[in-house]
Amino acid sequence: MNILLFGPPGAGKGTQSTFLVERLKMKHISTGDLFRAAIKNKTSLGIEAKGYLDQGRLVPDSVTIGMVDEVLKNNGRSSSVILDGFPRNVPQAEALEKLLEKHDMQLDRAVFLEVPTNALVERLSGRRTCRGCGTVYHLQSKPLKNGKNCDVCGSTDVYQREDDKAETIKTRLQVYSDSTSPLKEFYSKKKKLVEIDGQGEVEAVFLRVREALKS
Ligand code: ADP
Ligand code: AMP
Repeated sequence: MNILLFGPPGAGKGTQSTFLVERLKMKHISTGDLFRAAIKNKTSLGIEAKGYLDQGRLVPDSVTIGMVDEVLKNNGRSSSVILDGFPRNVPQAEALEKLLEKHDMQLDRAVFLEVPTNALVERLSGRRTCRGCGTVYHLQSKPLKNGKNCDVCGSTDVYQREDDKAETIKTRLQVYSDSTSPLKEFYSKKKKLVEIDGQGEVEAVFLRVREALKS
């Protein structure tokens, strides 16, 4: 089963993907994570993408689609895939149709995580990310166990993403509303859309996601 997870920034896509990977052994493909890794490694892709990420704008479609093409090619068809953060607009969704055909894959569900804007701002502004292993925390809802080191890899470098600062959060929510929210209609027409309430305990949200994948 291949799915995509979409929704506004901070809806919990990465968090739910972690559960899906751990418990259902799915493979997580996050375009945001791929861009951050490229930036960290200072590859040409990273150098091109950095300005867009820092400003909260979308990396150009040609670059993003090319990157996903490469990842799907290398993935083969060995496991179920979660696409997280891709597609982020209708042209990308149309391109994904072609990519899936090219790689002999199909999309089973487009899972939309619904969270109101005030909660998103609270989640994004309190989010902290481990630079060592990418584990995601939240100052209130998921703090570091010992207050200093990453629970998973022990790194002390747990930072606030540049795009999780107030001004950029505003831009990202606007980009979501302008470019990404039309995907609900896109996938509804294709009868792939499943809408999930993304509020409440992470475990409760996961149960809803799991149920949606069964139905
Ligand atoms: P996305 O990948 O959609 O941008 P994340 O999974 O990184 O979102 O979650 C954003 C922030 O909200 C993180 O700090 C995460 O710990 C927190 N978070 C995720 N799910 C929930 C939830 N159900 N309730 C409260 N906080 C959550
Ligand atoms: P995320 O980690 O999903 O919040 O993504 C962080 C940032 O990466 C976004 O604000 C964009 O700058 C970039 N990005 C991630 N996915 C895409 C995409 N599908 N298309 C364009 N830019 C993307």
